[in-house]
Amino acid sequence: MQYYNSSTVIYLNGRFVKAQDAKTDLYGQSLHYGLAAFEGIRAYKTHNATRIFKIREHFERLQRSCELVNIPYPWDNNELIKQTYKLLELNNFKDAYIRPLVYCEPNMTLIAPQEASIMICAWEWGAYLGDKQLKVCISPFQRPNPKSTFVEAKISGHYVNSILATTDAKQKGFDEALLLDMNENIAEGPGANIFIEKNGKLYTPALGNILAGITRATVIELCKVLDIEIIEKPISVAELKNADSAFFCGTAAEVIGIHTIDDVVFRQKWSDSIGSTMQRAYKNLVLEKVNYEVII
Ligand code: PMP
Repeated sequence: MQYYNSSTVIYLNGRFVKAQDAKTDLYGQSLHYGLAAFEGIRAYKTHNATRIFKIREHFERLQRSCELVNIPYPWDNNELIKQTYKLLELNNFKDAYIRPLVYCEPNMTLIAPQEASIMICAWEWGAYLGDKQLKVCISPFQRPNPKSTFVEAKISGHYVNSILATTDAKQKGFDEALLLDMNENIAEGPGANIFIEKNGKLYTPALGNILAGITRATVIELCKVLDIEIIEKPISVAELKNADSAFFCGTAAEVIGIHTIDDVVFRQKWSDSIGSTMQRAYKNLVLEKVNYEVII
């Protein structure tokens, strides 16, 4: 996958520069120790204009991630939002995935940084997990223990755990992994939250051991609009395997159905599931066709 070409522009510390000319320092604390914070955001070409879905929530989470791990965040989010729209314009992107990254300056100590840099780049990217229902396995890797880090922060170093889990799943012939938490309840995918359906209700793991996904929050909002009961609680593997259906959701993956967990096939047809309704409702929302779903 080529993420940029010779004309691609990125935003770097207040300026727009060519991606191919941008440089980073090999002595940076982020590269050596994984201390950096990032976001994944999507822009959609709607019938109104190109709209970046929940952009404020994403930059607020970026700021919170930095604050939690003591990375300086001297930027004004209103300004970053403005510059992100400009970035899309400069690159002539209508539908795009946007990646802001806050990273730290040269520092080989384990002391929190005094200064940080911000870069924002974008590229055109289809649904991260594809559009077919997924074969998922329970990962041998657990999510990081909330007593060992701030799991609610989107920190680069946490993604070693995600890469290990996805790689292991793919090596075993699955499409994706599902990680458990330290109590052996289901937590989330390497880059997406999970929901299960049972007897006409949706369930999702409560916050505490997972990333508080912005798509997860959107699905919960949609449940209220569509009058679907949604319960946030610890969910065991047995409950998952006994569910009627399940799906992952995230900015990159959007809403995508799960076909099997290990060797268990969900009994409900995807097209009859609440997940399928959510998939449609989510797409309508990001494309600003909100009324369509409500009226129907
Ligand atoms: N969990 C993890 C571990 C993730 O990396 C992501 C992607 N950011 C999500 C959940 C979903 O979060 P969001 O809906 O905010 O993209």
